[in-house]
Amino acid sequence: MKIKAQFGMVMNLDKCIGCHTCSITCNNTWTNRPGAEYMWWNNVETKPGIGYPKEWENQDIHKGGWVLKNGKLELRAGGRANKLLNIFYNPDMTLIDDFYEPWTYEYEHLINSPEKNHQPVARPKSQLTGDYMDLQWGPNWEDDLAGVHETGKRDPNMHGLEEKVKFEFEQTFMMYLPRICEHCINPPCVSSCPSGAIYKRDEDGIVLVDQDACRSWRFCVTGCPYKKVYFNWKTHKAEKCTFCFPRIEAGLPTICSETCVGRLRYIGIVFYDLDKVETAASVPDEKNLYHAQLDIFLDPHDPQVIEAARQAGYTEDWIEAAQRSPIYKLAVEQKIALPLHPEYRTLPMVWYVPPLSPIMSAFDGGLDDINPHVIFPAIDEMRIPIEYLANMLSAGDTEVIRTVLKKMVVMRSYMRAVTLGKEPDKTLLDKVG
Ligand code: SF4
Ligand code: SF4
Repeated sequence: MKIKAQFGMVMNLDKCIGCHTCSITCNNTWTNRPGAEYMWWNNVETKPGIGYPKEWENQDIHKGGWVLKNGKLELRAGGRANKLLNIFYNPDMTLIDDFYEPWTYEYEHLINSPEKNHQPVARPKSQLTGDYMDLQWGPNWEDDLAGVHETGKRDPNMHGLEEKVKFEFEQTFMMYLPRICEHCINPPCVSSCPSGAIYKRDEDGIVLVDQDACRSWRFCVTGCPYKKVYFNWKTHKAEKCTFCFPRIEAGLPTICSETCVGRLRYIGIVFYDLDKVETAASVPDEKNLYHAQLDIFLDPHDPQVIEAARQAGYTEDWIEAAQRSPIYKLAVEQKIALPLHPEYRTLPMVWYVPPLSPIMSAFDGGLDDINPHVIFPAIDEMRIPIEYLANMLSAGDTEVIRTVLKKMVVMRSYMRAVTLGKEPDKTLLDKVG
């Protein structure tokens, strides 16, 4: 066993209201400077929708991550193998138009306009050229259902669901997906950098860019399947989410976690076995990737693991932190958090509790009498189709999603009974299966 510690985050999607506080506080802290105007190290996407950068999940357009070829992992794009061929040629690179051209408004028109019969209009203006813009698309274009009809069809997670959802107003669903860099255990951004400028911190797995070593190749931009590396047009260096490491080192949470209005972000460390990583990332069947990643995590309460951690130089504080880690509890012990697109084979470390809310209408009699015979079948009828969540969080395995949602129904029922001073039904969990 070769033990490593890794920081991770779990976000509970049920609680995200799309307020963008996380994006703004991240921006104010890290990217509020020239060359970084279009960068959102933290962004919040409206789903179904094409996300930011647009259509990032469509790996036929924006290549990235790993593919399995003859049993071996190969970088899909921007790899060392392609380095000589692509040295002046990086055709799959995501460009500024894919992120959107940053704009601002002519606020002067709002503030100083003389009294008129009608409200003055603030026209969007490019921050790069200063020209007025005819906007066709931007982040969260799909909000208020305005763009779902058009852009929802281009969301790869919708694959095969168009008929089921039909894109009619009353059948449309919407959810938010907050995203940061996944600080992957098997990061293609690191592997694809010809200069070795991106590295994974040995002690805690945080993925960083050495600004002095970056030589502007931008293979990392192409190689990251989550499209979470950005190119600063002023410094000509790659930049990305740092998991707020200066705050972490001072004992503070990431700024997005601290300021999240929904209190839906949990951070912590997990121990994993480095010797199992390659095997886990190269299991042949995509649907097994989630289970394979689970297998690399180590139980921080196991005396053998504790001893291995000590031998590897982790102090008692680290071991205690791993034992108290909400990431270990939610992802590994309770198995209610799932990795985003495990099929990219990067072993991502930002996991999500899938949203349950849309089935709440099935709780006709309120929350007090949850009958699993009624509720469990209702999970398959909820407005966010199980298949949609499965395409996003379990490489298409609907059973994984179904089990998580059942657990969440049971947890709500249990906690509701406790809150009301009633005897909770302790047999419910057995019925999850
Ligand atoms: Fe690298 Fe982060 Fe992209 Fe993973 S999500 S490949 S760690 S930039
Ligand atoms: Fe969602 Fe929290 Fe970000 Fe608001 S601050 S958009 S609730 S993740």
